[in-house]
Amino acid sequence: MQSIEQFFPLLKQPFKAVITCHQKPDGDAMGSTLALSHFLQQLGHEVTVISPTNWAQFLDWMPGVDQVIDFEANKENATKIVNEADYVFCLDFNILHRTKHLEPVIAASKSVKILIDHHQQPDTASFSFGFSDVKMSSTCEMIYDFIVQSGHSNLINIDIATCLYTGLMTDTGSFRFPSTTASVHKIVAHLKELGLQHAKIHENIYDQGSEARLKFMGNAFLYRMQVFPEYNTAIMAIPKTDIYKFELKTGDTEGLVNYLLSIQGIRFAAIVIDREEERKWSFRSKGTFDVNIFARTHFEGGGHANAAGGRSSKSVDETAQDFKNILAEYKTQLTQ
Ligand code: 5GP
Ligand code: MN
Repeated sequence: MQSIEQFFPLLKQPFKAVITCHQKPDGDAMGSTLALSHFLQQLGHEVTVISPTNWAQFLDWMPGVDQVIDFEANKENATKIVNEADYVFCLDFNILHRTKHLEPVIAASKSVKILIDHHQQPDTASFSFGFSDVKMSSTCEMIYDFIVQSGHSNLINIDIATCLYTGLMTDTGSFRFPSTTASVHKIVAHLKELGLQHAKIHENIYDQGSEARLKFMGNAFLYRMQVFPEYNTAIMAIPKTDIYKFELKTGDTEGLVNYLLSIQGIRFAAIVIDREEERKWSFRSKGTFDVNIFARTHFEGGGHANAAGGRSSKSVDETAQDFKNILAEYKTQLTQ
């Protein structure tokens, strides 16, 4: 994988590009892909954003989101576009299988693949050019650097600023996680100078939930949460019946795991959700407990040191039981 600076001269030649991100895009995945597409379009390139799957409704206000193709809903058309692309930009994921059913299409295409991502252990062999840095708060921070370092700071308009802020805000937990560096605040200061409406973005992302979602959360805290003070750990297991009963939509469970960390003393939080095809785990930690390693070791997953995900093909009760059995191995790490 060559460094991203090697790619900068290629920005001068007109090209067809596809920009994609991980399945079920979050604010950073959607923000970074849309920001990059607004930027490349200004340079005159033909750009299509393809999301591997659908996304949460709370992202539907974003500038350019109406042009994004959902691969699962438009397989034929999206496959054709990937096959005709000169470049495929892969944002906010480290390994192609995070694009789910889009993976074989990207892998088979003759396009040059470019990685821009902040997750650990990137699969560098799959990409020709790359910008991979786990110290980055978000992929949006990296897209900002990509635009500035390629000499196009003047092209950052209000749409790009809005998309970048969305990822910066969501991936830093509204600027509270340790990944929030001085550079992050400097970027936000620059975006504010361009006219960024930050309060509106917070409202668009966090204040568009349904009444049913709040009832679901109340139910989850009352009946689905288990706290293990002896391990400084809290977990939640959400059965499919809850998803149907409260008519949950994509994105409705996002952020729920973080509430478990608000309990005094809790350093490790985990939530497993009974999804259609698999049981999906989300892991969060505070301090030195590395959930990326935990997810990789036990639940076929990965991510960052303090935020990771994984999966299991067992039932929701069985995988939750597996988790509880494993906890004992980590007692020292979790309590020292
Ligand atoms: P979330 O719990 O919000 O789905 O994911 C937390 C973080 O871990 C995100 O940065 C996400 O991209 C990453 N992540 C989630 N699931 C997986 C997985 O199965 N594999 C890898 N490598 N990363 C994951
Ligand atoms: Mn991210």
